[in-house]
Amino acid sequence: MTDVNTAAAAVPELTLNNGVTIPQLGFGVFQIPPEETRVAVTEALATGYRHIDTAAAYRNESGVGAAIAESGLAREDLFITTKLRNGEQGSTRAAFEASRKALGVDWIDLYLIHWPVPSQGLFTQAWKDMESLYAEGLIRAIGVSNFLAPHLDELLSKSTVIPAVNQIEAHPSFQQRELAQKSRSHGIAVEAYSPLGQGKDLDNAVISELAASYGATPAQVVLAWHLGTGNIVIPKTVTPKRMQENLAAAQIQLSDADLQRISALEDGGRIGADPAVAAFTQM
Ligand code: NDP
Repeated sequence: MTDVNTAAAAVPELTLNNGVTIPQLGFGVFQIPPEETRVAVTEALATGYRHIDTAAAYRNESGVGAAIAESGLAREDLFITTKLRNGEQGSTRAAFEASRKALGVDWIDLYLIHWPVPSQGLFTQAWKDMESLYAEGLIRAIGVSNFLAPHLDELLSKSTVIPAVNQIEAHPSFQQRELAQKSRSHGIAVEAYSPLGQGKDLDNAVISELAASYGATPAQVVLAWHLGTGNIVIPKTVTPKRMQENLAAAQIQLSDADLQRISALEDGGRIGADPAVAAFTQM
């Protein structure tokens, strides 16, 4: 087993469109109950993760904050992402302050609009408020999540700051290649959520075969594929052994031919909600 410093150092830093760098492999905390989040994030930080992805809607920001405070790590050495809840797009500043307080930090590294909720018609207003918070230095980079092409076009036509990131569902069986390409063509980095397909993509025969040939696990092969295609990736696990396993994927480099074999596994199977119509308030 590699030590913590080696594991953390193997994670590449990507440079976002405003010059801010982000560890390409982070740790997601969706569906971790609030009271278990402190324990999971403490373990993740001890394992070597330096990038944590949470959201106001996950109701576990305070658990993330407690783990950060107890870690003894310098704030500058951590990259913290949180997200604006759908029902708070009309009160972005207050929502941001609540997140900042729950996390117990002076600044957020990356703040995302969680979903566009086009039926609400509020995301450009929310973006303007985020641009102000960014200009004030309270956020190092601002971005979006679940934005499809029409939402990106609308935002880009009405905004000053180009999003640094579009966080979208992406895994071998559902890659959203066109959306990823469009995002990148505007300088927007692609961040893959549910990168393991919530575990569902790990049983695929091609993934198993490649895992055997690289002496790796299926999860490591899938994560190495994301890293090799340029995605930022934020796998979630509450299992310490899997935290180590997933982080160590940064030490695996797949050949171009093997990257392509995994890219050929697309089958259009979305797991999460469709952003074109998703309108949950998350309150
Ligand atoms: P993932 O693709 O990360 O899969 C998580 C599941 O895979 C869990 O059941 C976990 O089990 C299992 N798992 C993790 N590592 C391994 C491994 N090495 N071997 C076998 N099984 C493994 O799904 P998520 O949906 O959680 O996505 C990751 C993150 O993306 C979220 O935590 C969140 O931060 C973000 N996200 C963002 C969304 C958005 O709308 N912006 C929506 C959904 C997710 P266990 O924990 O039991 O070990």
